[in-house]
Amino acid sequence: MANLTDTFGRVANNLRISVTDRCNFRCRYCMPEEGMEWLKKNMLLSFEEIGRLTEIFATLGVTKIRLTGGEPLMRKELWKLVALVRGVRDIRDIALTTNGYFLAEQARLLRGAGLDRINVSLDSLDPATFSVMARRAYFDRTWEGIEEALRCGLSPVKVNVVLIRGVNDGEIEAFASLARARPIIVRFIEFMPIGREDGWSIESVVPTREVIERIDAVAHLVPVDRDPASADAVKAPAERYRFADGAGEIGVISSVTQPFCGDCNRVRITSDGKFRTCLFSLKETDLRALLRGGAPDAEIAATIAGAVKGKEEGHLINRPGFVRPERTMSSIGG
Ligand code: SAM
Ligand code: SF4
Repeated sequence: MANLTDTFGRVANNLRISVTDRCNFRCRYCMPEEGMEWLKKNMLLSFEEIGRLTEIFATLGVTKIRLTGGEPLMRKELWKLVALVRGVRDIRDIALTTNGYFLAEQARLLRGAGLDRINVSLDSLDPATFSVMARRAYFDRTWEGIEEALRCGLSPVKVNVVLIRGVNDGEIEAFASLARARPIIVRFIEFMPIGREDGWSIESVVPTREVIERIDAVAHLVPVDRDPASADAVKAPAERYRFADGAGEIGVISSVTQPFCGDCNRVRITSDGKFRTCLFSLKETDLRALLRGGAPDAEIAATIAGAVKGKEEGHLINRPGFVRPERTMSSIGG
């Protein structure tokens, strides 16, 4: 089978698809409170267009799909897209990243349609701090979404926590307790400079090293060995740890302090059908124009493979050459 190899020898087998740029939250690290403008409906890829692209990417060696956004569960009947992707031969793993607001009502449908795994963003266990992070007082809805995902057997349920110094970094130990008490993998993500008006500075980033040290001080952590036989395991951006006495697991994603670009196996499609080889890419390839212009599959596949050849070596966050992409994370697809 063909595969998507770049000039640094990395193979892309993991495609993140944004299904909408819209969101009902206003997380302070992602988008401003006011002034977001959304794409018109006809600018979004249809489910059929996403299905066709998934087929093409599968012929190019992609085996893992993550649906994201914006808030993906705002896209009407997302479960139908999950079912469409599930039907693509060679797609082994379908995951979803969500803020959880609509999850309680949709988890069972999504599971039934073939969703394998879910990541729910939850930046605080305290409703007041949650409202500061998300700028919406929706803690209870998100929490209920997590409970329903667990009840209906989505496994594993991962909780994504973006830490911002001085806002929610007091909760590292509380999140570790959650990971021990419940079958939830808590993943701490370093704050990246990609939101609009996000107030990012290097001082606001809580290095994952500090997260590990603080948790280890109260409950001994053991690194989870990455199985060298599994190419996917080695490529995972999260460093994983379990607790020495058994229950629970945490992960840390050190995008700023220890970038994992050298092992990156990801590529992305924005909700308006632009192909990006990196979250921080400054260039995009317009797949929607090809789809709507009647291009055959072979031409689209060749365009994708050509774009992957030009994949950047890595991002330059906190280095002199760093340039922020114009789009926010919500518009690229996180
Ligand atoms: N709305 C969904 C959600 O929040 O889970 C999916 C899209 S969101 C853009 C995907 C992930 O990106 C979330 O886990 C969010 O916390 C993370 N994210 C957004 N902006 C970020 C930033 N500036 N730094 C680090 N992570 C960020
Ligand atoms: Fe919405 Fe997700 Fe961005 Fe928060 S992180 S504003 S939930 S897209």
